[in-house]
Amino acid sequence: MKKSDLVNGLKELGLKKNDIVLMHSSFRSLGDFEGTADDVIDAFMSVLGPKGALIVPVFGALGVLTERLKARKDAFVSEAPVGTLAGIGGRAKDVLSGHWESETAHGEGSPFLKIADAGGYVCLLGVDQDRNTTLHSAEAILKLPYLGSHTEKCKDPKGKEVTRTWNFYPGPHRDFIGLDHIMRESGIMEVLRIGDAQVRLIRMKEMLELMVELGDEDPAFALCDNPACADCVRQRAAIFAERIANESFKLSVSSRLAGRYVPEMIEKLKAAGIQYIELDYVQGKACANMDAGQLKRIVGDFKEAGIAVSALRSYVVPEDVNGFAGKMKEAGIGRVILPLTESFDGAAAFEKEGVVVDFVNTHMTAAQAAKTLAKVAPKRFAFVFNPSGFVLAGQMPFLRSWKAGQFIKSLSQLDVNDRTWDGEIRPFAKGNGEIKELVSINRCRNFSGWLTLGGGSPYPGDFNAAVKDFTHLLDTI
Ligand SMILES: [Zn+2]
Repeated sequence: MKKSDLVNGLKELGLKKNDIVLMHSSFRSLGDFEGTADDVIDAFMSVLGPKGALIVPVFGALGVLTERLKARKDAFVSEAPVGTLAGIGGRAKDVLSGHWESETAHGEGSPFLKIADAGGYVCLLGVDQDRNTTLHSAEAILKLPYLGSHTEKCKDPKGKEVTRTWNFYPGPHRDFIGLDHIMRESGIMEVLRIGDAQVRLIRMKEMLELMVELGDEDPAFALCDNPACADCVRQRAAIFAERIANESFKLSVSSRLAGRYVPEMIEKLKAAGIQYIELDYVQGKACANMDAGQLKRIVGDFKEAGIAVSALRSYVVPEDVNGFAGKMKEAGIGRVILPLTESFDGAAAFEKEGVVVDFVNTHMTAAQAAKTLAKVAPKRFAFVFNPSGFVLAGQMPFLRSWKAGQFIKSLSQLDVNDRTWDGEIRPFAKGNGEIKELVSINRCRNFSGWLTLGGGSPYPGDFNAAVKDFTHLLDTI
């Protein structure tokens, strides 16, 4: 293979005079090339002409083509120490200058976007999409929640030592190679074999537009879906956490749904990006029956992992309310959910310990629940709405119970669970609990209380299935 073959190949790919090309390359991939790295650079420049530009990344380990280009007398290097680029040709300086002023390494104002705006191309010469740095520009434009910041001591363009931070900086792992087929199918990329190398030529502006479109649809579009990839598991958790942070409600999960053992629950909650847990069962034991020391340890373990306890749920009204309230205070649990019963007279005991009591409907209609609530909690109406409870009482939870009970004033929590009229537990929105309607109506009034997955009811699947089902529920409202 000769230099002229390369020139012909580049022209066949669609390159012409005055074009700007950002090249990522492997010289060796060309195979049996009769020439040097400089011949490859010259081949590009003979196609692009003196008014075009050939640009290469000069960060990380440099390949031989990159080294040679950077070493050229007329090479212009962008001033930023992150995402640094070097280029030759008439248009290089235009697109590469001002990199220091850009607030992000790859995003707005950076050379990457300038090259795209100038109608430039990304050329992957014998390397794959993993090397396509401009895809980080799409992540930065989207301000994806898993992106971090990068701080380093460096010299400003005048040579003064400064410490600078770049935001929306790329994460540790991504799945850019998984985007290759999308680019191929969308027609923004030409692929041609030149020598032994697969050479890809991508229209940069259209690539960014396509990626931003993908990212708007799914912020995890650039991440891998390998459950063993700790980096992408963490980055996906950041995406979900931000999504929930943008909701008015707070999201919690029952400990029974989260797992059997505390470390297991912590691992799952962290991987999902959920920051609250409701204690009902731990290791198959009712938390309400545990002693203060045991509860304190559990609360402490969660706290250390950055997870707060949203409430402790007892399925029976405690016999010794004073002892129970004292135990909650000692364990550091400020909120308790109890079944709504007419016989409850422990309000004063909990109030004394500064523990909030919320009541959840059991087998009763909305009218009965509202009446009982007004009786046992005349001062403080705090209600946990359990759709399963109303289904078991034969009432349509949204169409009848929600409206009849006028729970808007008193609602502190919506238990996210579902079941059928014959009592079978079901995934969210797959039973008669009208959970989709209940979530939707509470979103519409910016409900700021809790939504608790698996609260007050078992779930017919594991934790991951429940989070997936809930995400789907939100996606389809
Ligand atoms: Zn990954």
